[in-house]
Amino acid sequence: MVEFSRQTENKRQSARARFLQREQRRLIDTPPLPRALHEECGVFGIIGHSEESSSTIALGLHALQHRGQEAAGIVTFDHATQKFHSDRAAGLVSGHFISEDVLDALKGSAGIGHTRYSTTGGTNVKNIQPFYADLDRGGLAIAHNGNLTNTVTLRSQLIREGRIFHTTSDTELFLKLTAQSRKLSLADRVMDSLGGVEGAYALLVLTADALIGVRDPVGIRPLVLGRLGNAYVLASESCAFDQIGAEFMRDVEPGEMVICRRDGTMESRRCFPKPPNARPCIFELIYFARPNSFVDGKSIYQLRKQLGERLAIETPIDADLVAPIPDSGVAAAIGYSNASGLPYEMALIRGHYSGRTFIQPSQRMRKLGVERKLSANAGVVKGKRIVLIDDSLVRGTTSTAITSMLRKAGAKEVHFRIACPPIRYPDYYGINTPTREELMAATHSVEEIRQFIGADSLGFLSLEGLYEALDKGPRHTEYPAFTDHCFTGEYPTALVDKTMQDHQAQIEQLSFLKESS
Ligand code: AMP
Repeated sequence: MVEFSRQTENKRQSARARFLQREQRRLIDTPPLPRALHEECGVFGIIGHSEESSSTIALGLHALQHRGQEAAGIVTFDHATQKFHSDRAAGLVSGHFISEDVLDALKGSAGIGHTRYSTTGGTNVKNIQPFYADLDRGGLAIAHNGNLTNTVTLRSQLIREGRIFHTTSDTELFLKLTAQSRKLSLADRVMDSLGGVEGAYALLVLTADALIGVRDPVGIRPLVLGRLGNAYVLASESCAFDQIGAEFMRDVEPGEMVICRRDGTMESRRCFPKPPNARPCIFELIYFARPNSFVDGKSIYQLRKQLGERLAIETPIDADLVAPIPDSGVAAAIGYSNASGLPYEMALIRGHYSGRTFIQPSQRMRKLGVERKLSANAGVVKGKRIVLIDDSLVRGTTSTAITSMLRKAGAKEVHFRIACPPIRYPDYYGINTPTREELMAATHSVEEIRQFIGADSLGFLSLEGLYEALDKGPRHTEYPAFTDHCFTGEYPTALVDKTMQDHQAQIEQLSFLKESS
């Protein structure tokens, strides 16, 4: 009987090993996966500035560049001429919004800007934000970070009612809904538009006399308010305030609208009742936000260190050194090192001129991208047992490439530690992992992932550990204090379009026009 079950177990294991080999080949050889994690964006706005606003906006956007590198745009309003000025371009902020001519043309002491992060195909200039529209009570520009979950449904409904769309972006829905509102003031009309949308948004709206900031009902995407002299500033992250020397005032609350005016006054309105618990996206803390930003009054850098400390307690290992995957794993690796007592070393050196790897169109290209970006530091690695720390594991591309790189450089053992739980569920709010198949942890056990990436051991931070490390554990009054569906499958809003297999593919099919970008 014992013999029989051992044989069965052996057979099961070799079938599993064959399956994993096939999987590994499939991932390397298959044509491009449709989508990557992406679609974070950065927004920045200012009103009541003593100078022309464009260069300050460009500087603020520059600090938010990590939130989107595909394209950038600025719209300003010039009070003297009562005209809006708009400029949008593909590429980095510094690729366009650096020349004096460009900045001088963007006249006015108020404006909003946007950095965009999208992948599929080229960036069609029509989809670059801010969007502008002439409404019957004046011009209005809008910049949006986040994703709506009822884009397809709502857009089809509006088209049937006779509306015309010029872009395939969900942001245009805000414009259409604002335009059709019967309310009198533009602020009221923007507020009216929110009743029709579902999902995640941090919005900036510029009108002739106000800069408006709005956050979705549970606060999935971030938005902060600050002051620069007499001017009000709004941005996705506080690091943009540091860049321009502005003072941080507070986070815009979930479901709140702030209306900042040229005369230095500010009004706060509730668009939605205060939620029992705000649920900002936990991925902002884990990966997106810049380490020098503060969220909810807490330093992102410190929080990530706390994640690393907790990870060390939960997944200890006998090793010679701790090293980060730079830059995303740095703070957590410092925390792991502090808590474990193992020395912190740079086992990998990052090249800063290789561009982004995450959104390469194919697995082969992504793997090459990781190899181009990171090199093993043989002087540190040779003969050593290394604990490698990263913030997250998505498809396993980075970890697989790095394990083999370190082994080639002479590492004796490679132990992977991930400072968040396994990502098992797709996101529809702005990080966009629309299919579960793209997520390695959705279809593989931790042991299978370990085998796949070729590490000696693999450990993830537990969900409880994550919450505890962020000081928001189950005993916290506002539990769950985050949008954490990536780990739990529990979504904080209705997923109206989700019945569709591939939400994003549907969105791209919204237009029959194929333009060269
Ligand atoms: P993967 O290589 O597919 O397992 O992805 C994990 C790596 O991608 C980690 O190094 C993360 O820091 C990074 N990462 C996680 N989320 C994102 C995102 N939305 N955009 C770009 N990179 C990401």
